Amino acid sequence: MSLIDPSLAAILVCPVDKADLTEDEAASRLVCQQCGRRYPVRDGIPIMLIDQAEGGSNE
Ligand SMILES: [Zn+2]
Repeated sequence: MSLIDPSLAAILVCPVDKADLTEDEAASRLVCQQCGRRYPVRDGIPIMLIDQAEGGSNE
């Protein structure tokens, strides 16, 4: 069970640093491996907007 379509997940990267993302299914978030920003997923759609992300405010 995935938050989003696996083929979509495979091409998604963090818009800040282009790093890979990890799904956090419990929190419905995609977590950046590089900067730690967390992007919300709503109804299977990842919201890849920097100003919608949580965390990473020091970068
Ligand atoms: Zn990042």
